[in-house]
Amino acid sequence: MNQVTKQTTVPKSPTDNTVIQAINASREYELEGETIHAIRSVNLDIRKGKFITLVGRSGSGKTTLLNMLAGLDHPTSGKVLFEGVDLSDYNEKQFIQLRRHRIGVVFQSFALLPLLSAYENVELPMRIAGVGAKERSYRTNEVLDMVGLARRAKHRPYELSGGEQQRISIARAVAMRPDVILADEPTGELDSVNASEIFGLFRHMVSEEGMSVVATTHDRALIDMSDQIYTVHNGMLELNESSVNDYDNSQFKKPATVTGSK
Ligand code: ADP
Ligand code: MG
Repeated sequence: MNQVTKQTTVPKSPTDNTVIQAINASREYELEGETIHAIRSVNLDIRKGKFITLVGRSGSGKTTLLNMLAGLDHPTSGKVLFEGVDLSDYNEKQFIQLRRHRIGVVFQSFALLPLLSAYENVELPMRIAGVGAKERSYRTNEVLDMVGLARRAKHRPYELSGGEQQRISIARAVAMRPDVILADEPTGELDSVNASEIFGLFRHMVSEEGMSVVATTHDRALIDMSDQIYTVHNGMLELNESSVNDYDNSQFKKPATVTGSK
């Protein structure tokens, strides 16, 4: 079996196109006898092929929410479902499958391994998942090309600009064809030109590859590229109705399920 195709360990919901759903999700932290309400009863649907931005000031709760959507943290009340299954019910094996095959994450600080080349960084998750050499090489080149960095394949992270490093980390996140990319302040360390390139890349992946993207930012200049914009304020979520974009996804192409062997 081709290993970049979806695994069946995590059941697929047959009913609709909601991938991740937060239902009355709250997250409280206890700190020195004080309760911090980081996220307050949030409801959010992440649908297939949508680009969602969460915009909000530092401390508003963006990272807390994103971590719960990724299953890295669990709500103290309410729940987060991945294709209808409560993420807090996942066992370790299912969680590993989820993180390898279904959800890709991108961090503000890129999190590339410094001793590996751009190519090797992108290839690593496929190595870990046991994807065969031929297909691994095909897909690595394909995603490096997608982010416009095929020519930088041999460079180490320190030989790349911040914008290029983030593009490499996006290539790494999409290599396994996840359903959803969760990106926490992916442009936080970039200038405005590079930042808008990164959001353009997300737009491309949503429209052309059919992935869903949820990206947090505090930069309002970037949000116009997304389909849905939510403001996070004091742990609460508010949909900016007036700025919901209706992107024409008629060009929408389903990603090929098999690379290299079609
Ligand atoms: P943002 O990503 O929007 O900057 P966060 O989700 O990091 O916001 O934080 C939301 C709130 O929760 C803040 O008040 C923050 O101080 C608090 N918080 C986050 N993580 C913890 C933690 N591990 N322990 C206690 N409080 C936390
Ligand atoms: Mg944050």
